[in-house]
Amino acid sequence: MKGFVIKSTGKYSLVKVDKKIYKCILRGNFRLDNNLSNPVVSGDKVEIDFDENQNGVITKIIKRENHFIKKSLKDDKAHIIGSNIDQVLIICSIRKPYTKFIFLDKCIAAAYYYNIKPIIIFNKVDILNSEETQKLKKINNKYSKLGILFLEISALHGVGIDELKKNLLKKRTLFIGNSGVGKSSIINILTKSNQKINDLSTKTGRGKQTTTFSEIFEIDSNSFILDSPGFKDFYFYDIDKNDIKYLFNEFIEIQKECKFNNCLHLEEPDCKIKDNIGDKIWSKRYSSYLSIMNEFN
Ligand code: GDP
Ligand code: ZN
Repeated sequence: MKGFVIKSTGKYSLVKVDKKIYKCILRGNFRLDNNLSNPVVSGDKVEIDFDENQNGVITKIIKRENHFIKKSLKDDKAHIIGSNIDQVLIICSIRKPYTKFIFLDKCIAAAYYYNIKPIIIFNKVDILNSEETQKLKKINNKYSKLGILFLEISALHGVGIDELKKNLLKKRTLFIGNSGVGKSSIINILTKSNQKINDLSTKTGRGKQTTTFSEIFEIDSNSFILDSPGFKDFYFYDIDKNDIKYLFNEFIEIQKECKFNNCLHLEEPDCKIKDNIGDKIWSKRYSSYLSIMNEFN
């Protein structure tokens, strides 16, 4: 049977086939790729079978359309957060907690690298003072100019939720963000249930604290959310240092005019990117670029 992985822990996966969910293990002779911390991930399309004891077994992972990977800091291996996705919702907040630009810009860069459309959400607009509201407006403006959909919402007060939902219909959307930004709250509103909190596998009943694996939540039969555990830092796994400059949209045209065509916009002379900082290039974006480049050293 063909199915679809809606959750996968180290030990087992939940595989949905039509309306039924089967708990499956991975076939024993599956060769673990040594550079991979998780061989199966939510979003995977798989083939399953049943052994003599009627236990479900995943026998094949169908080739992924795409995936989103971060480096696992524990062992430097690739940790796949999700597969077969259309877009990634990067959830941020100005306060409680403060989302760093470097985190946001890395997520955007990775999204482009993996061919996934990024969408930026700033949650918790209800707690902002007027100065912070102005600041957010400026940020919104900058990213909107890059052609990225930017939404300001409040999960607590239901602000901007309809607009958000409209953009998730008929899509497979990966949710990522620092813990505490309101990912669970947003999912609960969008799925009109306490799916996330009532997670079967969570004996403590405190779903969000114990979630360490990506998991799928349905908005409707054609639209789903692939929720990932909140993480603080995010490091690239397979993205090359020389490719970073192509993952910053606003650099693409300008950098063609740099003196050296392999210019990395660091110390090189006659660099048009550096010349444009504060003009066509927002200084915060260039700072993120520099920070990313420094992580390779
Ligand atoms: P997660 O860790 O990203 O899943 O975040 P949660 O959904 O658990 O939310 C973390 C905290 O932020 C909780 O106390 C929520 O009630 C609160 N929260 C979520 N959304 C909002 C919002 O729009 N406004 C405010 N003021 N608080 C929110
Ligand atoms: Zn340059």
